[in-house]
Amino acid sequence: MRAAVVGAGVIGMTSALAVKNAFPQYQVHVFASEFSPETTGDGSAGLYSPYLTGNTPRGKILQWGRITHQWLEKLWKAGLACEIGLSLVPIYRVTSDPRGFSDSSWSKVVYGAHKFTEKQLEKLNEENRANYKHGWMFLTYTAEPIRLLPWLTKQFLEAGGEVRKRKIHQLAELIDDGYDLIVNCSGLGARELVNDDTVAPIRGQVTRVIAPWVMHGLLEDDDHGHYIIPNFDNVVLGGTHQENDFDRSPRKEDAQFISSGCCRILPSLKNAKVWNEWVGLRPGRAEIRLEPQVFKYLEGREVTVVHNYGHGGSGVTMCWGCASDVVKIIRDRNKLKSHL
Ligand SMILES: Cc1cc2nc3c(=O)[nH]c(=O)nc-3n(C[C@H](O)[C@H](O)[C@H](O)COP(=O)(O)OP(=O)(O)OC[C@H]3O[C@@H](n4cnc5c(N)ncnc54)[C@H](O)[C@@H]3O)c2cc1C
Repeated sequence: MRAAVVGAGVIGMTSALAVKNAFPQYQVHVFASEFSPETTGDGSAGLYSPYLTGNTPRGKILQWGRITHQWLEKLWKAGLACEIGLSLVPIYRVTSDPRGFSDSSWSKVVYGAHKFTEKQLEKLNEENRANYKHGWMFLTYTAEPIRLLPWLTKQFLEAGGEVRKRKIHQLAELIDDGYDLIVNCSGLGARELVNDDTVAPIRGQVTRVIAPWVMHGLLEDDDHGHYIIPNFDNVVLGGTHQENDFDRSPRKEDAQFISSGCCRILPSLKNAKVWNEWVGLRPGRAEIRLEPQVFKYLEGREVTVVHNYGHGGSGVTMCWGCASDVVKIIRDRNKLKSHL
C-alpha cells in the first residue's frame, strides 16, 4: 500500500508516524509545502488545553485530548522531555463569565484540577486587577512544537517514512501517482486543496519574552482575555483570536494589547526583554473534520482519503488522539475490504 499524508504540521506528522507505526509494511510519504519551523504549531506554546474547537462534540474533544495527554505522559516518563520540549506546568484557568466555562471536561484529564474557592478568587482578582468569577488550578503539559516536530519527523524517517516538499493542488495528483490511501492534514490549506471554505483562519498574535522567573501559566477564558504560558527558552504572552483574518504580520496595536494585559496580570513582566512577535493562523472550522471519504474507480480501484483538519486552537492538545483515530479508520476500512 502506498500512503500519502498531506501536511507536515503537528497533525500531519503525528498522523504520519501513527500510520507508519501501525502499518510498517506501508510506504508512507509526507507531502507539504511547509515544514517545521514554518508550520502553525511552531510558534504556539503547545499547551495542553482545548480552545477554539467550534462545535466539535465534547465527547470527541475529551477522547482525543485524553489520548494525547496519556501519550505525552508516556513520553515524559520515557525521559524525552528535553528532546521534545515537554514541561509540566502549573496553570490557572479563569473566566469572568458568571455562567462559568462552556466546557470544563478537560479538568478530568489534567492533573490535580481543583476549583478556586471564593476567597482564592477574591485574592487573585485583587492581584490581577480582574473580575474573575470562576477558576481552576491544575498541572498539565506544554509540548513545544518547535522541538516536538523535529522529533516526530526523526521518528517517522527512522521507521522508514519519507518526506517531500511539494505543494499538492488537488488530491487527484496523488491518486494519479498511485497512492491508494491519502491522509489530508492540510489545516487551513484544506480551503484550496479540497475546496472546503468552512475552514477559516483564526488569527493569533503572541509575544515571546525572556522571563525565566515565570514558572506558572495563566489563561483568561474571556473574549478579550490574555494568557501567559512559560516555555523552555521564553514565556509566551497572548493573544488574539481574530476570525477570518488572513494577516500574518504582527500588528503594533495587538502587541500593545498583549503587553498591557499580561503586565496587568503579572507586573513582573514589565521589563522582560522581547524575544519575538509572531502571528499564526489557526485552522478554524465549525467542527474538526476527521472522517474517511472513499473514491471508487473503474476496474475496482478504491482510494480512501482520511480527512484530519480544522483543529482551531487545539492542534497540539488533540494531535495523538486524532492520529489514533486515523489509524482506527484505516483498520476498519481494511477489515471491511477483507470481508468483501
Ligand atoms: C498563536 C497560537 C497559539 C497556539 N497555541 C496552542 C496551544 O497552546 N496548544 C494547542 O494545542 N494549540 C495551539 N495552537 C493551535 C495549533 O497551533 C494548531 O491547531 C495546529 O498547529 C494545527 O496544526 P495542523 O497540522 O493542522 O496545521 P499546520 O501547522 O498549519 O500545517 C498544515 C500543513 O499542511 C501543509 N499544506 C497545506 N496545504 C497544502 C497543500 N495544498 N500542499 C502541500 N502541503 C500543504 C502546510 O505546508 C503544512 O505543512 C495555537 C495556534 C496559534 C496561532
